[in-house]
Amino acid sequence: MLKNLTEKFANLIKNFIDKKKLSDSDIDNIIKKVRKILLDSDVALSTTKYITLNIRNKLTKLEINRKISPGQLIAKMLHEELTEIMGGFDIPKFKFNLNELNIFLFIGLQGVGKTTSIIKLANWLKKKYNKKILLVSCDIYRAAAIQQLKFLSNKNNIDFFDEKSSDINKILKNALTYSKNNSYEFLLVDSAGRLHLDEEMIKELINIESILNPLYTFLVIDGIYGQDALNSSLKFLDKLNISGFIITKMDGDSKGGIILSLKHNTNKMIYFIGTGEKINDLEFFYPNRLSSRILGFGDIDSLIEEVNDKLESKENKVVNNFDLILFKEQINNLLKLGGIKKIIEKLPSGNLLNAKENNLDDKNFLTMIYLIDSMTLKERKYPNIINYSRKKRIAYGAGCSLQDVNKLIKFYEKVSKFSHKENSQFSFLNKFKNKKI
Ligand code: GDP
Ligand code: MG
Repeated sequence: MLKNLTEKFANLIKNFIDKKKLSDSDIDNIIKKVRKILLDSDVALSTTKYITLNIRNKLTKLEINRKISPGQLIAKMLHEELTEIMGGFDIPKFKFNLNELNIFLFIGLQGVGKTTSIIKLANWLKKKYNKKILLVSCDIYRAAAIQQLKFLSNKNNIDFFDEKSSDINKILKNALTYSKNNSYEFLLVDSAGRLHLDEEMIKELINIESILNPLYTFLVIDGIYGQDALNSSLKFLDKLNISGFIITKMDGDSKGGIILSLKHNTNKMIYFIGTGEKINDLEFFYPNRLSSRILGFGDIDSLIEEVNDKLESKENKVVNNFDLILFKEQINNLLKLGGIKKIIEKLPSGNLLNAKENNLDDKNFLTMIYLIDSMTLKERKYPNIINYSRKKRIAYGAGCSLQDVNKLIKFYEKVSKFSHKENSQFSFLNKFKNKKI
């Protein structure tokens, strides 16, 4: 996520780590570089000016003491600025009403990720708060659009209100009555997008808004875009009562422009970010955490949260005999957390690690699982009995090559040494797993 930004900021910070003090020309240089990084990332000009002005003010007042290098101070300052620009350290709580129907409306242009975000958010609410949730779509123009939400709802065990009518008013009114009569706590409403915001779309959305009176209206925005998305958001905001934003596709090639510019230009919060196509790929948005990730400090808080959410709350085992059974369990845990790349990204400097070069690929881990599955119980418990003929049988059984078996054994041995030393499995996961947040 936002790897480009991370690399550029890391380079900037690195240049000043060994300096003893900052000269005026150093300050000019920093400002110039920050300005270029932001503009190249498609951050709005007004936002770029605001950030660079703040940094200049702070840098000129700065007293560099010996213990902290200018590089560290610049990093801290950038962290503060980026956090502030995205909404600050103290963000308002995500509130909803108990014993009442809470209505969320999702709007935005076509293809930005409204339908996908609804199912993700429903899943998030269900898992986090165990709420009774109903979904409805009033994207009447494409039959496939309503079917898409219905399919996703069924697949993920979330209730879907299936109204056959193609009259938006009727769909919404019936959905409202149905949710109230069946004591639903949340009604999440999908709407139709268009390629461009036009009069017709605005009219339709104003009508939907007036029927529903939503607690939250989320404007969903594709994170790939910069200035264009900002301009269209301003038009939506002008006509509709938008509560805040969901930025999708942050896992893709987003340069960061929109996520860094929105709050400053609209004064509305970003609530969630989409980080993939799967149902769990939605994160509540914390400006300081994203700012840490952008600067390569990692995002341990989110990682801890994910580990707590996604891994079963098993007792932390102290491992005396680390075998392939346990090894497989650990690989499964990694994959459950969204895969190795997602974890690395949240570790300090993780964004700067080249997962490919280091052969950190989920496919390799899946191959390892297949191989372990085709071993006997004895082989899994005592991997050192795996000789050449066993290797051949295992490879054949898993549909893999002998080389794959050798790679697995080598990797297992590496991890195994490490885990004996630390008396734990993938030690960092375990440390986080038991930490309360
Ligand atoms: P809608 O027209 O606004 O309802 O958009 P959809 O929800 O149908 O999404 C359009 C496409 O974007 C689909 O292929 C989704 O899988 C994809 N998509 C949505 N959110 C994300 C995300 O956070 N990351 C990635 N990589 N793809 C996403
Ligand atoms: Mg849709």
